[in-house]
This record gives sequence, structure tokens and C-alpha cells, in this order.
Amino acid sequence: MTHLLPTLPYAPDALAPKMSRETIEYHYGKHLQTYIDNVNKLVAGSPFESMTLDELVVKSDGTLFNNAAQAWNHTLFFEMLTPTPKPIPDALQSALTRDFGSVEAFKEAFAKAAVGLFGSGWVWLVSNGGELEIVAKPNAGNPLTDGLKPLMVLDVWEHAYYIDYRNRRADFVTAYWDLVDWEKVKLG
Ligand code: MN
Repeated sequence: MTHLLPTLPYAPDALAPKMSRETIEYHYGKHLQTYIDNVNKLVAGSPFESMTLDELVVKSDGTLFNNAAQAWNHTLFFEMLTPTPKPIPDALQSALTRDFGSVEAFKEAFAKAAVGLFGSGWVWLVSNGGELEIVAKPNAGNPLTDGLKPLMVLDVWEHAYYIDYRNRRADFVTAYWDLVDWEKVKLG
């Protein structure tokens, strides 16, 4: 199958100024496009050619894994942003309170993991058999490889924030809370 750049559910300038049009143009338009192009080139003529991105993440390794996981991770990241954030749905609020003590405590722990992750990587909210957990993964890491279900993700590679926030990753994480689409967190 040919893997395609996912369509953004918002205009490229809709998240500005918290995430600028320039960041979307580079991060989505160039970085994500390149990962997808690389996957298509790497699977061509191989047994991986018929696999979905989910299957590739679980079954490949090396360069193919890196590109497939980066394509997967970015797809979820961009799909879960919105220019019009709404309150956290009751069911999610209850689950976060159950497993982290409160929504604020969850956000604090998630931000700490995001700021504390050395180098490039991703911070995830995952379901571990129904229990919510925060997982920080370096590089292209994806929780599917650990049998965990990804629920939301924040990209903390420098390319995600350097245009808008330069070296201030913590400010990017703070801005993320104003962009995340809680309604796309699928608990079930
Ligand atoms: Mn990225």
C-alpha cells in the first residue's frame, strides 16, 4: 500500500500563535512528509509492502521502524491538535483522576516527563490494560511495541518547537495544553 500524508483537521495557520504556520509547514509539510516518503521507498518490493503503518511499527526494526514509527507518531500528534479546545470529557477526567490523583497532577507529571526527556522523543498517555500511564520514549519510540495502547502524544523533538519557542521546551509544553483535542482521547 502507498502511505499518504494525513489531512490536517485545521488550516495550517489555525493554531497560531501557539503553533505557527511556519512550524506546521516544516513539521507537518516537510518532516512528516519525508518520513512517509521514506516508508514508501523502504517497503517497495519487500514483504512489508502490504502492511499498515500499525503493523510496520510492531513488526519492523532499524531504519524502517524509525520512519514508520515517526509517521505513526506524527499522525496522532497532528490529529490531536485543535484551534478550538473543549473541556476534558467527564469519562476522561474521571480516569485521569483515578490514575493520577487529579487532572492537574496528570498534566504536571506529563509536562515533567516532556521537559525531562533527554534529547529527541515523545511523551505518551497510554492505556495499560485500562490503567492510564505516562510513558516517555526516545527517538521514534512508540508504545505499541510494548503492548500499550497510545491515547495521546506530544512531540518533544526540537523541530517541534524550535521555530516558535527556540530552546524553551517547557513553554512549548505549556502551550500544548491549549491546543490538545481531549475529545480525541479514546479510552475504550
Ligand atoms: Mn516531529
